[in-house]
Amino acid sequence: MDAMRRESPYPMVSVDEAHRLIMAHVAPLAIEEVDALSAEGRVLAEQLHSPEAMPDVPKSAMDGYALRAADGVAERRVVAELTAGNAPGLVIGPGEAARIMTGAPMPAGADAMIPVEQTEEQSGVLRIARALSPGDFVHTVGQDIADGALVLSPGAVLAAADVGLLATLGFTRVRVYRRPRVAVLATGDEIVEPAAPRPAGAVRDSNRYALLAAAREAGCEVISLGIARDDRATQREAMLRGLDQADVLITSGGVSMGTRDLIKPILAELGSVHFGRIAFKPGKPTTFATVGGRLAFGVPGFPVSSLVSFEVFVRPALRALQGDATPQRPRVRVAIAAPVQPAPDRQEYQRVTVRWAGGRLVASSTGGQGSSRLLSLHGANGLLIVPPGEALHPAGAELDVLLTGPLAQ
Ligand code: AMP
Ligand code: MG
Repeated sequence: MDAMRRESPYPMVSVDEAHRLIMAHVAPLAIEEVDALSAEGRVLAEQLHSPEAMPDVPKSAMDGYALRAADGVAERRVVAELTAGNAPGLVIGPGEAARIMTGAPMPAGADAMIPVEQTEEQSGVLRIARALSPGDFVHTVGQDIADGALVLSPGAVLAAADVGLLATLGFTRVRVYRRPRVAVLATGDEIVEPAAPRPAGAVRDSNRYALLAAAREAGCEVISLGIARDDRATQREAMLRGLDQADVLITSGGVSMGTRDLIKPILAELGSVHFGRIAFKPGKPTTFATVGGRLAFGVPGFPVSSLVSFEVFVRPALRALQGDATPQRPRVRVAIAAPVQPAPDRQEYQRVTVRWAGGRLVASSTGGQGSSRLLSLHGANGLLIVPPGEALHPAGAELDVLLTGPLAQ
């Protein structure tokens, strides 16, 4: 039997140092071209300039009449009706007007339009309530987007509105970064498939499914590597299988100080371990290595540690790999709803619900913060960053939160 180690051979790094070490090994993946009109969620890899002005011709901004401002308040003769889809060779002369619908190109000769509400029309004669200035209610060329204007930059995460922008400018293909492929392995002799019978004391594999879901949410393609027994050859083989197919390997469990905690030695044998211990709670033994050009993260087995480590260390790497210009979650200042006791030696990330209340952002704990209490992540939209220390933070004190989801109601 192997002896239990008393002390980790890995030096303790700070959270910032861990981030720095990870990001130093991350570069955006290859660029690929995809259908622009369904590219939401992808990260743009090129600069897009507008190939034309929007609108490209002057257009009516309202339903009403196109006319010449210089005619003042004089009556006009209505000579035509223009709808959004037609572009006649019509010229509006002095004393003339044309009915015009919103979005219709302005006819030549007309330099203003008047909304229908400010007019009366009888037997083809138009009376207007007031004089106009040139340009009134006209949507001018390039008013929305100038010809050649920079519209989208590399690193932009395409949202629904961006798909609309691409469509309106006629871009049907765009260059984006490839999605990372992420392989996830669960480890542990006590771990069983959720659908399998569970012997007393055995633990259903929640980590692999939660990590696969989190990686998908982070924009990745995922590969499930199953559950590996606590046996060095088995785990090594499964990890190599993952590293062979994926850009990133995530293992759950097996990074603590137990005799069956084999992930770190295997990673050290396969590649370089950059850190194996972080002054971080929950998830001190979180490990980061590179094997060839691949990234490997060993997150702890306790379900909360596993997901919080993913959120704080793995997710930013996955976003940066796909070129996201802002891979970190937004960090905001909040008031805490109840007192918080810091951990003496580690920066802690407590699960909280953040909402707007009484004119400020307020964070409330999701309850017991134990590493195995997965329920503490349910309903959490933030991780409250509690720096190490001795002194209690009283209710109302201000701390930073990483916002992991939309504000709660
Ligand atoms: P370990 O980090 O391997 O020492 O695991 C610590 C504890 O986390 C185990 O005793 C299990 O209770 C739990 N655990 C490990 N792996 C998983 C998993 N895949 N799903 C859910 N819980 C797990
Ligand atoms: Mg284990």
